[in-house]
Amino acid sequence: MTNNSICRTCGYHGPSETVTPGSFLIEVFLWLCLMLPGMLYSVWRLTNRHQACPSCHQTTMIPIASPIGRQLLKAQRSETASEDQQPDP
Ligand SMILES: [Zn+2]
Repeated sequence: MTNNSICRTCGYHGPSETVTPGSFLIEVFLWLCLMLPGMLYSVWRLTNRHQACPSCHQTTMIPIASPIGRQLLKAQRSETASEDQQPDP
């Protein structure tokens, strides 16, 4: 998990969240019923664990330190800067 990520979908920047697919309750249930399905379910959940955007839940978070990440952040900052420069009525 990294604290410096930017979302290519919604522009959110900050820490990404770790998403584990499936349900913990189903995992416990399968373990209690039979060993093998429980084990397979656990392996599936762990191998499909991924980082996602806390805002839009897409898996399009990229590190800000990457060239594309820097570009996105720069574009976002210039957007907010141009909004600030608008003259008051
Ligand atoms: Zn997002």
